[in-house]
Amino acid sequence: MQTKNNEIMQRDLEVIWHPCTQMKDHETLPLIPIRSGKGVYLYDFDGNKYIDAVSSWWVNLFGHSNTRINTKIKAQLDTLEHVLLAGFTHEPAVELAHKLVYITPSALQKVFYVDNGSSAVEAALKMSYHYHLNKGKRKPVFLSLTNSYHGETIGALSVGDVSLYKETYEQLLIQNRQVQVPVDQSLQAAQVALDALEILLKEKADEIAAFILEPLIQGAGGMHMYHPAYLIGARALTEAYDVHLIADEIMTGFGRTGKMFACEHAQISPDFMTLSKGLTGGYLPLSVVMTTNEVYQAFYCDYNEHKAFLHSHSYTGNPLACAALATLEIFAENNILGENAKKASYIKKALEKFLSLENVKSIRQQGMVTAIELVGYESHERIGLKIYEYALTQGVLLRPLGHIIYFMPPYIIGYEEIDKMIEVAYEGIKRV
Ligand code: PMP
Repeated sequence: MQTKNNEIMQRDLEVIWHPCTQMKDHETLPLIPIRSGKGVYLYDFDGNKYIDAVSSWWVNLFGHSNTRINTKIKAQLDTLEHVLLAGFTHEPAVELAHKLVYITPSALQKVFYVDNGSSAVEAALKMSYHYHLNKGKRKPVFLSLTNSYHGETIGALSVGDVSLYKETYEQLLIQNRQVQVPVDQSLQAAQVALDALEILLKEKADEIAAFILEPLIQGAGGMHMYHPAYLIGARALTEAYDVHLIADEIMTGFGRTGKMFACEHAQISPDFMTLSKGLTGGYLPLSVVMTTNEVYQAFYCDYNEHKAFLHSHSYTGNPLACAALATLEIFAENNILGENAKKASYIKKALEKFLSLENVKSIRQQGMVTAIELVGYESHERIGLKIYEYALTQGVLLRPLGHIIYFMPPYIIGYEEIDKMIEVAYEGIKRV
């Protein structure tokens, strides 16, 4: 019998080329058309529901179709849907920028709007390079951590290190060096990595514009986590060697790590911070590059003295997306981080039993990100895909990164749903 799910899937596959997908897989792997979402659940056309345990690629904070955010965006829709941001401005952009300056580390005083995560990384890299040029220095190289991920446009891909995405395009990339990420969450690993960073900066700082990192958690690199001491050391070293520090908080921002921003765990203020994903609560594409007055001032001059930062996207600072600042109001009016801390420790406790499974190597957690690392599989076995398929049959959307199974649910997830998410993952891991 032809179900509604099937019908939509077939029409989709006639014309849509999906992201991050070998399309041939869909000869056997069904696509899931989603009809609606509410809270932590996604609903398909055939009456199935799925717990969105990965917040739809880490963007959703307060659930699907959140009444508070809906109301704000609907009101904005009847007022102003879009206007260019060059020569013009609008209230949602102004309000959101002020709120961001208020809640991010103190040195970050200026907000440059972009419209997705990778583009924010591109803009931050260009801004850093251009800053040094305006100061009379040519620094054409960037520095990043091994195992990092910063997006998939050419510049962002260049500073990343996940070979699955990067390898093919190697010849197209811009100049980047890599330095070892701390191997685990210990203080000692942080120190070893800082020693390597110092050696590299001593030798190469003259050519390096900026050091970009994902603070505390490398997301697409398999939820790899490291100690905040590394951030403290990296901030001190970059400052000493006149290299910018770019904190890419696109995934870690807005409470994911247990504090509003991961940089707060180390009490550091970077030269640039990139934000996206949770910025709109998972509603609309939007991103920002936050930076310091010092960087801003290096571009502020008469028209012909230095080139201005001539970077733009059509949808920069879109008013509907900025109206999702309702997300920040929810943070301001509720004890979200406190409630998340309780949920995180509940998840941690519930996962203890996983350690007795012989294919579980380790479990790590930082705030509302929890990862279970499996051992004993080759990549061609596509173990993550098997767990993904099993979990869907049980009504949970997990999307493992290879042999790393992780949970990154919307913050409004209830304890019953946490139990279900964990139970399904446990069964899935036991079966493979
Ligand atoms: N940086 C980090 C740390 C990310 O996790 C991501 C997305 N997973 C990006 C950049 C790229 O963002 P986008 O997918 O919106 O381009």
